[in-house]
Amino acid sequence: MENWQDKLKAAGFKATSKRQEILSFLQGENRYLSPLEVYQYLQKNHPGLSYDTVYRNLREFEEAHLLEVTDFAGEKRYRINCGGHQHHHHFICTQCGRTIPLKMCPMDVFQEQLPGCVISGHRFEIYGLCENCLKQNEKH
Ligand SMILES: [Zn+2]
Ligand SMILES: [Zn+2]
Ligand SMILES: [Zn+2]
Repeated sequence: MENWQDKLKAAGFKATSKRQEILSFLQGENRYLSPLEVYQYLQKNHPGLSYDTVYRNLREFEEAHLLEVTDFAGEKRYRINCGGHQHHHHFICTQCGRTIPLKMCPMDVFQEQLPGCVISGHRFEIYGLCENCLKQNEKH
């Protein structure tokens, strides 16, 4: 079990119970979730909570590298950072949001095609269906 109280404090946040709940929920899910899914989960215990608050927290956690962010189906999705500060990429299942971390970074290949240029950042993600979803789809 992660100690979110300490992690939040180390990242400069007040370790409120809502913040800890967001992180432990994402930790338990271990996949990309939309802000709406996180909001709906938290609403069960905190009926007065606004969507904006949840969304702002997610963005702050992303900046503090507690979460990772991606875009798919026209929406931002967040997950618990599965690699710390270590650079990594993911395979993302477009059906269930499951992610599989990839150790290899393909950037060296592209640098060769950009002589004289300095690359300052990149995004590289592989989308598809995971093993579980493929099996599930076969049944129907
Ligand atoms: Zn990751
Ligand atoms: Zn899947
Ligand atoms: Zn990379």
